[in-house]
Amino acid sequence: MLALRVPGTQLQKAKVTCVTRTRRHGCASPMAKLIDGRAVAEKVYADLRSDIAELKARGVTPGLAVILVGDNPASRAYVRSKDKMCRELGLHSVKLELPASTTQTELLARVEEFNRDSTIHGILVQSPPPEHIDEAAIVRALDPRKDMDGFHPENVAKLVLEDASGFVPCTPLGVQRLLLESGIEINGAHVVVLGRSMIVGKPLALLLMQKNKNGNATVTVLHSRSRNPAQITRSADVVVAAIGRAEFLKADHIREGAVVIDVGINRVEDAASERGYRLVGDVAFDEVSEKASAITPVPGGVGPMTIAMLMANTVKAAKQASFG
Ligand code: NAP
Repeated sequence: MLALRVPGTQLQKAKVTCVTRTRRHGCASPMAKLIDGRAVAEKVYADLRSDIAELKARGVTPGLAVILVGDNPASRAYVRSKDKMCRELGLHSVKLELPASTTQTELLARVEEFNRDSTIHGILVQSPPPEHIDEAAIVRALDPRKDMDGFHPENVAKLVLEDASGFVPCTPLGVQRLLLESGIEINGAHVVVLGRSMIVGKPLALLLMQKNKNGNATVTVLHSRSRNPAQITRSADVVVAAIGRAEFLKADHIREGAVVIDVGINRVEDAASERGYRLVGDVAFDEVSEKASAITPVPGGVGPMTIAMLMANTVKAAKQASFG
């Protein structure tokens, strides 16, 4: 545990596991602190394990159904890791893999089946589905009490209304938890979110501006049409990059001592890698880590938190369905 100080915000007892200039060059500088998403996810799992044991003792095994339509390799890998995590935690896991030719009507029928299945507390339809599928219609067909992605209009409304019984998309929830568990003060801080998607940017902005102890941030959201983005990001205590552009955020975009959370996952060609590519975030890690006070790596930052929050949402759904 390290005590960190950041101009304009407070970082206390941040759970940062390495003091490093760059990941590739080893520990060299007392500057950028690495926020370890895997370690925080483990803490989430430790809490969940006791909740799950309690639920099981009362005769309830939380159940998650994940539907994958088509054979997108990245989606397949995500679905596999979600299923694996469910099993590790002792949850009931159903993985339904459907061919890319599945019609909208067939998919709706499967969603309906899971809506009615009392052993399933959470449903997730892996995004993106094939182009002929109307994703919004699928989302609306989900029972909002089982909507683990938090995309159903009822859950979006609950997020806006600050009704904690709703479900919030897993990645923003994971970013918030990562900040809180790392001791980074959100209350009163200026958080700049790059990206306004329904899965990350928009719900994250709503979450961090909520009027409660885990929110109270002053949030600015940037998108592709924003003017003078660097001027705005330089005024931030915390910058969250979620735009899907490899190493877009440079050192010049942040002020000395800012906290940087990198949501992006991008493949870039890398002849030195066996796979021919490597994964990088939306942040130019090497240069930004020299200026930031704390930063998440890619991989190993936000990614593990997304799955942890899916598990947390499933346990919450099981509790609410069984005991109100
Ligand atoms: P998305 O739906 O494509 O949205 C991208 C957003 O970024 C849009 O709002 C877009 O603006 C904005 N944008 C694009 N270029 C920009 C620029 N130069 N300056 C400012 N804003 C810009 O992407 P997404 O689904 O939110 O995903 C974003 C990234 O996060 C991707 O790399 C994705 O793989 C990753 N991701 C990671 C996780 C995880 O678990 N770690 C989960 C979800 C997503 P407009 O609205 O104006 O087009």
